[in-house]
Amino acid sequence: MLKNLILVLNCGSSSVKFAVLNPINKKKYLFGLVERLYISRSMITWNTKEIRNQLVIGDNLSHEKAFHFIINKIFNCEKSLFSRILAVGHRVVHGGMSLKESVIINDFVIQEIKKNIIFSPLHNPINLLGIEASLKYFPHLSKKNVAVLDTAFYHTLPESSYLYAIPYNLYSKYGIRRYGAHGISHFYVSQQASNILNIQFQGLNVISCHLGSGSSVTVIKNGKCMDTSMGLTPLEGLVMGTRSGDIDPAIIFFMNKEIGMSLIDIEDILINQSGILGLTDGITSDFRYIENNYDTDTISQRAVNIFCHRLAKYISAYTSLLDGRLDAIIFTGGIGENSTLVREIIISRLSIFGMKINNELNRSTRFGKSGFINKRNTIPILVIPTNEELIIAQETIKLFN
Ligand code: AMP
Repeated sequence: MLKNLILVLNCGSSSVKFAVLNPINKKKYLFGLVERLYISRSMITWNTKEIRNQLVIGDNLSHEKAFHFIINKIFNCEKSLFSRILAVGHRVVHGGMSLKESVIINDFVIQEIKKNIIFSPLHNPINLLGIEASLKYFPHLSKKNVAVLDTAFYHTLPESSYLYAIPYNLYSKYGIRRYGAHGISHFYVSQQASNILNIQFQGLNVISCHLGSGSSVTVIKNGKCMDTSMGLTPLEGLVMGTRSGDIDPAIIFFMNKEIGMSLIDIEDILINQSGILGLTDGITSDFRYIENNYDTDTISQRAVNIFCHRLAKYISAYTSLLDGRLDAIIFTGGIGENSTLVREIIISRLSIFGMKINNELNRSTRFGKSGFINKRNTIPILVIPTNEELIIAQETIKLFN
C-alpha cells in the first residue's frame, strides 16, 4: 500500500478543521470542519467522494469530543484511506524564537510549543490538543507528526518592523518583538497570486488581507514579508471577532489603576470581549450579522466602519513600503472571501492609490470563488480562498522525503 497521504489537523479556539490529502497532486480525499465548539448546536461538516455530510452533534462539544467523533465516526468508515497516511501535519500558531520552520514533533518541540503559550494563549494550547489527540489515536505515526508554524513566514521581517520602540534588552533577553501570525494563509494566497499574475514569487509585491475571526494584513515585497499587523501575539493590529487589535497601551494602565480591574480581567476583555463583540455591545462577534444589518442598524454600521477604517489605514501605510509598485491587494478568510460590503468600503477608501472596485465582480466573487474584483486597468484586487491545509501537507511531506 502506497503511503502518500497527509492528515492535516488545524485546531482553532472554536473549531477543528481536518483533511486527508495528497500534497503532490493536491487531491483532497476527505476534509471537514467541526464548528461551534463550546456553544449550542456544535456541528460537523465533512466531504468524502463528492458527498457532503452535515450533522449537529450536540451542545457545547469540547475539542476532545470533536476528535473522538472525527476518529470513531468518520475515520473508521474510511479505513482504506487511513492505511495510506504517511504523516500528520499540525498548524501551530506560535513558534517564538526557537521554532522558525516546520519541524518533526518530539518532546523538545512540545516543550517549546508550551513555552510559547505566553505569546499565543488562545491558540497554542488548542494546537497542543490536536497533537495529543494524534499521538493517542495514531500511535503508529507517533514519530511522524509535524508542526507547521504560522510565525515561520515572518522570519524575514526587517528589524524596522519587528522591533518595538521599548528598551532593547526586552527583545534581546526576553524575545519581545513582532512575530506575526496567519503566515501559512498569507504564504498560500500570495503564492497563488504569483501564479495568477504570472509574476515570479521572488519579485512579487502584494498586500494580503486575511479577514476572519482573527484578522491580519501582511505586506510582501519581492516575495518577503516586510511588515504585518499582528505583533508579539495575535492581539495587535486589525479589529477582530473578539480581539481589540491596536489600542493605546495606556488604556491598560487606566483600566487597572482607575477602574481597579485585574490584569487577568483586562486580558480577558481585550482577547475575548472586544473587537466586533465589544463594538456591538456584546450582541455578536459574527460578521454576517453586522453585514446583514448594516443598512438599518447603527450599531452594525459602527462596527463595520471601525473595522474598515483600521484596515484601510494599514493598507495605506503598507502601500508606502513597496517603492511604488503594488502588484495586487488580496482578500482571504471568512470575511475577505465573502463580504462584498467590506471589500467595497475598503477599496472606496483607497481610491487615492488608484484602486477601483468592479461592483458586479465583487458581488459574484464569493463562497469559494477566486478572481479579480477590480475595474479594468486599475490595481489588481484578488479574492483567493485560503488553503492552509495544502501548505501544512506540503510542509509535512518535505520532512519525510
Ligand atoms: P474564518 O475565521 O476565516 O472562518 O472567518 C469567520 C468570519 O467570517 C466570521 O466573522 C463570519 O461571520 C465571517 N463570514 C463567513 N461567511 C461570511 C459571509 N458570507 N459574509 C460575511 N462574513 C462572513
